Amino acid sequence: MNIKFYTLGCRVNQLESAAMEAELKKRGHVIVESGADAVVVNSCAVTAESARKSRQAVRRLMKENPGAFLAVCGCWAQAEPEEAEKLGAMLIGGSGDRMAFIDAMCAGAGGTMIGDPKKRREPELLGSAIMEGRTRAYLKVEDGCQNYCSYCIIPFLRGPVRSVPIDPAARAAAECAAPELTITGIELASYQYGLGELLKAVGKAAPDKRLRLGSLEPRAIDEEFCRTAAEVAGLCPHFHLSLQSGCDATLRRMGRCYDTARFYRSVELLREYFDNCGITADLITGFPGETEDEFAQTLEFMEKCAFSHVHIFPYSERKGTKAAVMENSVPKKLREERAARAAELAARMERSFLAAQKGSEQDVLFETRIGHTPNYCAVEPPCPGMAGSIKKVKINGVDMVNMTLISAI
Ligand code: SF4
Repeated sequence: MNIKFYTLGCRVNQLESAAMEAELKKRGHVIVESGADAVVVNSCAVTAESARKSRQAVRRLMKENPGAFLAVCGCWAQAEPEEAEKLGAMLIGGSGDRMAFIDAMCAGAGGTMIGDPKKRREPELLGSAIMEGRTRAYLKVEDGCQNYCSYCIIPFLRGPVRSVPIDPAARAAAECAAPELTITGIELASYQYGLGELLKAVGKAAPDKRLRLGSLEPRAIDEEFCRTAAEVAGLCPHFHLSLQSGCDATLRRMGRCYDTARFYRSVELLREYFDNCGITADLITGFPGETEDEFAQTLEFMEKCAFSHVHIFPYSERKGTKAAVMENSVPKKLREERAARAAELAARMERSFLAAQKGSEQDVLFETRIGHTPNYCAVEPPCPGMAGSIKKVKINGVDMVNMTLISAI
């Protein structure tokens, strides 16, 4: 069968699609861009906008592939299965049990098989999936979240925390063919067998690989974690922390389980244990009740942390969450204005982090167009034909417009 995939949403969704594609190829099917007998939309519902895009994708792909078997899975399908059916989906899977979903699709079986996320207890080991020009692979070791941050719908859609035990995770890492592997999950800080121990085992099982961790809550970073992780030779000195706000009152309303002091402790520890460490973060602007003064505190805290990059999102309501019915909603225009101001500061911090790399020698993994240093700065290749390899290069300068490092061999 010729099968087309369309994936929306986060890294974990991308990875789950890549794992389903790999499984289908193993079974003799072909992944295509056009001429599909079956279309899979792996949907997202993290914001109202992602749910809208998921609906739009289903409609568009139906039109573009008349007569194809339409299967929809992922968080939006989990949240609104009736809507997916109304739009013409023949098979509806949710945010779990990807292999059963594939089995049903291969058998041409229609119906809804979303299950109740609250009842999920077992992790699903999908193996590592290679994405991005065959150089970078992702391994999901954790699913679910039970933090119930006030703005987030994920715990309702993905169910409780389930972790892949260390041994099978390390075996899957050893089997991965890509030179770089990112260990990821929906809420990696909740990994139940110890993140430091997992890194140690993966480092031993796959000694030649470059390793990275996906997004982390700051509470995952303590002295013990840093001591263990710093001994894993392949681990890159780049950590992505979810900050969301740099103001304690806002963090409390968000229901986050740390304050700025705890967050900053994580930043300090990472810098103490990892040389030239890149620390990136996520930020939400215009959360309900965020005053100008609270936002100013966030800007000040961002500056103190000296992030090398920040992903900034204007707050977006998600039906069914506590925050969606909170008082003192911030006008959309102001949420965007604050996002733009935060982005300006983030760009300034990023430029100074890039400038500090000048003169260094770094092992860069070159992908299709660009490469990345261990601390996750983008690097222009010094010459063509570098894709797929790790090369030591000299950092000669910075392209401040494209935010990339300029390198020479
Ligand atoms: S930690 Fe909070 S924001 Fe992250 S997935 Fe869980 S509930 Fe959502």
